[in-house]
Amino acid sequence: EVAARATELSKVYGTGETRVVALDQVSIDFRQGELTAIMGPSGSGKSTLMHCVAGLDTFDGGSVRIGDTELGALKDKQLTQLRRDKIGFIFQAFNLLPTLTALENITLPMDIAGRKPDQAWLDQVIDMVGLRDRLKHRPAQLSGGQQQRVAVARALASQPEIIFGDEPTGNLDSRSGAEVLGFLRNSVRTLHQTVVMVTHDAVAASYADRVVFLADGRIVDEMHRPTADSVL
Ligand code: ADP
Ligand code: ADP
Repeated sequence: EVAARATELSKVYGTGETRVVALDQVSIDFRQGELTAIMGPSGSGKSTLMHCVAGLDTFDGGSVRIGDTELGALKDKQLTQLRRDKIGFIFQAFNLLPTLTALENITLPMDIAGRKPDQAWLDQVIDMVGLRDRLKHRPAQLSGGQQQRVAVARALASQPEIIFGDEPTGNLDSRSGAEVLGFLRNSVRTLHQTVVMVTHDAVAASYADRVVFLADGRIVDEMHRPTADSVL
């Protein structure tokens, strides 16, 4: 049950004096039911790795597969479809649509995919992010933290197989950050999802089952949280 796999993934930016090897033959599996945090210094390749595995960025060597699908074999349209069907994103630039209400933003990916939200789940997600009394507000009428919570709710609402987060709780105070991460972890367990998140925050990383450390485009260390299974 590998949800996503990178094999000897390489990515190079620029040429000549500005040439940067952002990823240097990185191989990594992301399993179902597992929350992975990617850490490492600024410029170590965290975002590049996540973007390549999420099908948002091209790469120069190696391969990526999501489920049984090799991303390198897909046309742009198929890639868009795959992201729509299987992936939720929680990024720093929230990409909320300014003309839509919070609720409309949250359900937009499902509306586009022509899927009906599971109302009970949607209610749980909205309550978890604490947006019950802001559903009719537009993004400009919400604080930064509230906008981030809309983005979190949008990613979780469709129950995607894989969720990619770039500092998913970066704009939240520690209490709402902890709530979101706790909910994310429960969702991963219950729905057997896969979460990959880039974070600088040791507290956020403490919610992960596994922490992967990058430096200079390579994986230099990996830590696993002992699971209930391995303890018993
Ligand atoms: P991190 O997320 O760990 O901060 P990134 O994946 O953003 O690191 O970047 C890895 C390296 O690739 C950096 O050294 C950066 O200079 C380079 N890089 C990232 N994006 C670009 C880009 N669009 N053009 C040129 N170089 C880039
Ligand atoms: P947060 O801790 O979520 O960032 P703030 O302290 O910034 O919240 O905002 C407090 C309240 O002020 C919020 O409930 C929000 O409704 C309102 N608010 C914040 N920023 C804006 C804005 N740019 N426009 C309208 N209302 C805002």
